[in-house]
Amino acid sequence: MCSPVGHSLAALVIGTTKKSNRLTLNYLVFCIFSGVVADLDFLIGWYMGDLNGYHRLGSHSVFAAILYGLVVYGIIRFFKRPEEAEKLSSWPFLGGLMYLSHIVLDWLAEDNSEPVGLQLLWPLSDQFMASPVSLFPRFVHEAEGADILGMFADLFSRHNFSVMILELVIFLPLLLLMLWRKFRTPRQ
Ligand SMILES: [Zn+2]
Repeated sequence: MCSPVGHSLAALVIGTTKKSNRLTLNYLVFCIFSGVVADLDFLIGWYMGDLNGYHRLGSHSVFAAILYGLVVYGIIRFFKRPEEAEKLSSWPFLGGLMYLSHIVLDWLAEDNSEPVGLQLLWPLSDQFMASPVSLFPRFVHEAEGADILGMFADLFSRHNFSVMILELVIFLPLLLLMLWRKFRTPRQ
């Protein structure tokens, strides 16, 4: 699993691909939320008394990314006036891509838990899938069965700090490159 820092930066990189999208506070919050929302599956586990019991399941699948894009589309269509919805027309697709980036990054990250990987193809398959090579070190957020205090103790460990630094080193230059590209030429 990657950290919220890596997921957020990756989502922001995707969010800056469309030059016409203004980097408003709402848009930045949307990008970051779309990048990390898959990990809210922890809240279900917390509510059910098993913090990790629902992590890396259907929430970490390609289907969930598509569903998220559709939900964003539905919310915009339902709650926004047509002229506003038109301005936000790229949000569902980009949001789905940001969600998907979370799945891909977690898939590429080191994972020592059992079973290893994610339910990538849920609901077609319950199989857990992991990348044959790990490109990112594991962001530790739980000892198996840990409670919420154990999770917080893990979150602020020295190891996790080094993981976040590495993710910053990887994704921040990419984000800066995208920002430079975005502002270098007029919006299209
Ligand atoms: Zn995740």
